[in-house]
Amino acid sequence: MKAFDLVIAKDAAHAVTLLAEHGPSARVLAGGTDLLVELKSASRVPRVVLDISRAAELKGIELTDQGLRIGALVTHTELMRFPLIRDLFPALVDAAHSIGAVQTRNLGTLGGNLVTCVPSMDSGPTLVALDALVTITGPGGRRQLPLSDFFAGPRKSMLEPEDLLLDIVIPKENLGKPADFQKFGLRKGQALALVNAAASLWVDWERDVCVAPRIALGAVAPTVIRARAAEAYLEGRAITPEALAEAGRIAVAEARPISDFRASADYRRDLIAVLTRRALANAYARATAKRDGEKQ
Ligand SMILES: Cc1cc2nc3c(=O)[nH]c(=O)nc-3n(C[C@H](O)[C@H](O)[C@H](O)COP(=O)(O)OP(=O)(O)OC[C@H]3O[C@@H](n4cnc5c(N)ncnc54)[C@H](O)[C@@H]3O)c2cc1C
Repeated sequence: MKAFDLVIAKDAAHAVTLLAEHGPSARVLAGGTDLLVELKSASRVPRVVLDISRAAELKGIELTDQGLRIGALVTHTELMRFPLIRDLFPALVDAAHSIGAVQTRNLGTLGGNLVTCVPSMDSGPTLVALDALVTITGPGGRRQLPLSDFFAGPRKSMLEPEDLLLDIVIPKENLGKPADFQKFGLRKGQALALVNAAASLWVDWERDVCVAPRIALGAVAPTVIRARAAEAYLEGRAITPEALAEAGRIAVAEARPISDFRASADYRRDLIAVLTRRALANAYARATAKRDGEKQ
């Protein structure tokens, strides 16, 4: 690895100032599980690597007026262990648990995973299915946008070079929304997703129909995508095995999978149908269990 200067930011504002000072020649370092691998093989290394791991504003998980706020520096292990996440969003725990091995999860951060904008990232789909927002801080102040709009392309986010991802917010209307995450890789552990899928839904129990379904897919397009036609098909519809299978088939038509050394596009299309159906069925099972728990 070629030499670079390591600069340590004491807080988020300091990090933004340093990024503005050094411009595109600086790279942000969070857990380093992606960045250091990249730098080892990169022909050009940044002049400056900016360590943000001491920025307190990027840490912690808390309920706010807006919803559940997860700091960008929260690691996958912290996410898996946090009681509120385990209680409200078991699908997020499953997604975090599917990432790499213990060492990777101990160091790797949620923010780092999202900023890489790798189409097969495992954190993206569940958060997109929960309508998560991201907060970005830069020289012009703070701004928020839906996570689904944050992904600009493969390995390209909406961050400007001097921006920092501050946190991820699951809006309060979605607190406890039943959701599920599915991943299919070539091995059970330490494998990138050939396809991953997440679904969330509410159920109107009076009419026994699906409300506000969300389906998000990874590794089947240049970015994590929402299967909006499948969502529209399910909205207001009775949740039957046939309807869930049909939603899976519609989702296939919305994806643009490629063939590569891991799998063919056709194989990925089959996976999309199966994983979408399973994610929806499991989200519905969680909704049912929650209702039955509340009745007791
Ligand atoms: C062995 C191994 C297995 C893995 N398995 C998986 C897997 O199964 N699934 C999966 O999804 N990923 C996997 N990964 C990828 C990686 O672990 C995750 O993407 C991780 O969450 C990245 O977080 P980090 O903190 O280490 O990011 P870093 O490496 O520190 O940074 C990653 C990128 O994000 C930028 N960045 C980080 N934080 C911020 C911020 N707050 N604001 C602005 N820019 C920022 C950095 O500049 C860099 O470009 C694996 C990695 C390894 C090494």
